[in-house]
Amino acid sequence: MENLLALTLADEMPAKREGAGKTFHWEWLGRGLLALTPFDKVERSLLLSAGLHGNETAPVEMVDQLLGALFREDIPLRCRLLVVLGNPAALAENKRYLVSDINRMFGGRRSQFPPSAETKRAQELEKVVSAFFAAAGEERWHLDLHTAIRASYHVRFGVMPQRSEPWDERFLSWLGDAGLEALVFHQSPGGTFTHFTCEHFGALACTLELGKALPFGQNDLTRFATTQKALRALLAATPPVHRSEPVERYRVVQQITRRSDAFLLHMAGHTLNFTPFRQGVLLAEDGEERYEVQKKTEYVLFPNPSVALGLRAGLMLEKITS
Ligand code: ZN
Repeated sequence: MENLLALTLADEMPAKREGAGKTFHWEWLGRGLLALTPFDKVERSLLLSAGLHGNETAPVEMVDQLLGALFREDIPLRCRLLVVLGNPAALAENKRYLVSDINRMFGGRRSQFPPSAETKRAQELEKVVSAFFAAAGEERWHLDLHTAIRASYHVRFGVMPQRSEPWDERFLSWLGDAGLEALVFHQSPGGTFTHFTCEHFGALACTLELGKALPFGQNDLTRFATTQKALRALLAATPPVHRSEPVERYRVVQQITRRSDAFLLHMAGHTLNFTPFRQGVLLAEDGEERYEVQKKTEYVLFPNPSVALGLRAGLMLEKITS
């Protein structure tokens, strides 16, 4: 069952739906969905997802390599593991999505999108993940692996969903050890996969943005080596190699939303993620509505003027001073 990626791209069923390795039981739960349960009692349940955006191939290849290592017994599995390849149809076509972005649909928000294979997939993912966390203990982690569309001042960074309970510092420090240079904290709920698992199951969840991806087979996975090493350690429940570089922290202070065809984003097309803007600068206009920098300095994340109406055209951040 180590060929999950190949089966997923080809839309084929495995010869067997479940089986046993030396130390774990595995079960294929559907296209791109595989659960691995160690025979020994373990503390942590880990949801490891990738390919929610079909053109973000490097993390999918990383997950494929990790599965290979688990089945070859290169790494012992010391957590319950659910692997999710999020959008198989889009992965097979190397497109971000085919009709609508699944990573905006969670928490029932799929009803705001025209029905498609992707709204169905969002529903299926919610169901499978609910069952996985229903059988989990206290320690629940969700790492959702992505690559960013644009260049960035921070090459690798994490986006944290809104969370009412405080974050576990061990989780945040693991993210630093996994090579993230910055963490961005959302202050309000959203429709991403990590918002869903954090809100509904109390999972420590992070959307990891790991740099730029190329089509399948063309990725230089050495650029993702720090993250991959930390993931191997996580699966084996051993501590990762500690990185002493500081991790910059930001919080979201405003969201720019494209509400009409009159929407104008006043940023160059090649604006880097985390580009700073000074107080008072006009960021965007949408008819009567004007978005200006409110704080002394705000940093832009994911600027994108061509999103569908009603969706996020950018986030503005401020640094959290420690
Ligand atoms: Zn993505």
